[in-house]
Amino acid sequence: MEADLSKVCRLCLKGGEVMCPIFGASQLNGNSASLPHRIMSCAQVKVYEGDGLPTNVCTTCLSQVDRSYQFKLLCEKSDSTLRGNMHRNSASDTESLDGGDSWDMTKFTPEVIINEEADENVSLCLSI
Ligand SMILES: [Zn+2]
Repeated sequence: MEADLSKVCRLCLKGGEVMCPIFGASQLNGNSASLPHRIMSCAQVKVYEGDGLPTNVCTTCLSQVDRSYQFKLLCEKSDSTLRGNMHRNSASDTESLDGGDSWDMTKFTPEVIINEEADENVSLCLSI
């Protein structure tokens, strides 16, 4: 049994010629999250070292886990970005931005624009 388990992929139960160890490989790859952590984040399974189950995954499943985990991170990042923007537009930032920027805009914007992009803005102002 033990010899078989070492050749069986933990995730798809198939045997492969090239197997990747689940535990201890994260440091070599330089990934922030360990492989067991990524597997458990993507699937409702328990992956712990020394639990008597296969300790290797095949390269196919390894890439699947990577893609799934990256997709999970992307979804979470996008969600937080969307919710963060909504929060900014609707809540506390509106007050501080209105109070500060309205003064800055009226006082400094004309001078800055003319100095930095003189020709274009002058012609625009004249044409308008
Ligand atoms: Zn596999």
